[in-house]
Amino acid sequence: MKCTQPLTGTARKLFEFSQDMPVIDTHEHLPIKEEYYVNMPTEFGNLFNPYCAYDLYSSGMDFPRDQWAAFVCISDDWDQFKRHWDRIKYSSYARALRISMQKYFGVDDFTRENYLDVVLKGVRDNQRPGIYQKILHEDCHIEWSIPCSGALPDKDDPLLKGNISSPTFFCTSPQGFKQLEGDMNCEPIRSLDTFLEVSRAWMVKQKEAGAIEFKSKAFSTAKVNRDDALLLFQRVIAGESLNETEAAPLMSIVREEVAKVCAEIDIPLALHTGVWGDYRETDVEDVIGLCSRNPDTRLDIYHLGIPNARKAIQIVKNFQNTYLNLCWSHVVASEMVTNTLKEAFDMVPMNKIFAFGADYVYAIEKVYGHLYIARENVSIALADRVDRNHLDLDEAKGIMKMWFYDNPKDFYRI
Ligand SMILES: [Zn+2]
Repeated sequence: MKCTQPLTGTARKLFEFSQDMPVIDTHEHLPIKEEYYVNMPTEFGNLFNPYCAYDLYSSGMDFPRDQWAAFVCISDDWDQFKRHWDRIKYSSYARALRISMQKYFGVDDFTRENYLDVVLKGVRDNQRPGIYQKILHEDCHIEWSIPCSGALPDKDDPLLKGNISSPTFFCTSPQGFKQLEGDMNCEPIRSLDTFLEVSRAWMVKQKEAGAIEFKSKAFSTAKVNRDDALLLFQRVIAGESLNETEAAPLMSIVREEVAKVCAEIDIPLALHTGVWGDYRETDVEDVIGLCSRNPDTRLDIYHLGIPNARKAIQIVKNFQNTYLNLCWSHVVASEMVTNTLKEAFDMVPMNKIFAFGADYVYAIEKVYGHLYIARENVSIALADRVDRNHLDLDEAKGIMKMWFYDNPKDFYRI
C-alpha cells in the first residue's frame, strides 16, 4: 500500500507486536454521543475536517474569509479539488487519511471516479450505531478513548472517558459566564474573585460527574499583569466577547487557579502547546513557569510544542510533574516525532511518554490511519535503539506497551 513504510528487521517485529497491543487514545474531539456522530451530515468537505483542510487552505485553496473554518465549504468540484489535493496529498495529515481510505474503502488516493463514493457511500454508510466500538475497539484495540469537549460522556460508557474544557475558556465571553452560572445555579458573576470561586466549585462537580482531566493551553511566556486581566474581565462583564490572543492575560490568571484546584482534587491538567497559527502564542516554554509554580499539579503536555519539540522534551526531563503526550503530533509532523522520540529516549524517563491520541473531530475512520503511523514511528524509534544494542527486543516491547497503554492508564487512573 502506498503511504505506509516498508519496515525491515527489528522495526517490523515491533510493528507486528504493536498490532495486538491495547491502546489508550489520550485525546479526541469526536462527539461524546455516538448517536450525534451517526446523525452528522455527510458533506464532502467534512472528510478533511479539520487538518487536511488547513493544508488545503495553506496550499492556496479559496475559503470564504468569514467562515473558512466551516470545512463544508470545500468544493466537491473535481477539477477545483484535484489541483489542491495534489499539493497536499503527501503530508502526514493526508497520509493518515489515505491509510484509512485503503483500510475502509479499498483505495489509497482520490480519482475523478471514486472521490464522491469515498465520502458519500463509504463514510456515510459507516455512520451507523456501533461504529465507535467497531473502529476504536475492534480495529484499533483502543481500550479507552478520551474525548475533550464542553460536556462529559456517560459515566458508564464502555469506551469513553471525559476530558472537559476548564474555566480557562469560559472567561472570554458572556456565554462562558452563562454556562458557569447555569451549571452552578448561581447569581450573575460580577467580580473576578467570584468567577474563580464558582470555577472551583464547578471543577469539583465535574470530577464527581466523571471528568478525568481538564484542558487548558499554553500562552505566550510574557509576564501576566493582574491589572490588565481585571480590565479585560470588565469588558466581558459589559457584554463583549474577546478572542484568545487578546484575552491571554485574563485566561492565564484563571488557568493559574485551575492548576491549583487540579492539585487539590488530584486530577491532571492538559495543555495545548504549539502548532496552530502564531504558535508563539501557545509557546511550550510557558509550561516552565506554570509547572514550577504548581509542582503538585500533573501537567499533560500536548502536541510536543511543535515546532519546538526539543524544548518540550527538555521540559519533561527537568520537571517531575510534566508528561509528554504525542496526541495529534504524528499527523502534524510524522518525521519530527520519530526523530524526537529517538532523542527523548536519551533524556526522558520511560514512564513520562504517552504515544497516541488521534485528536479527530469527524470521520472516525481516520483514527485507524493515525494510529498506524504512530505504531510505525514508535517501532522505528525503538528499533533504532535495539539495533544499537542499547536494549533488547523484549525491553523495547515493554517500553512500547508503556507508551501506548500503561503510562496513560496510570496517569489518568482509568
Ligand atoms: Zn485537540
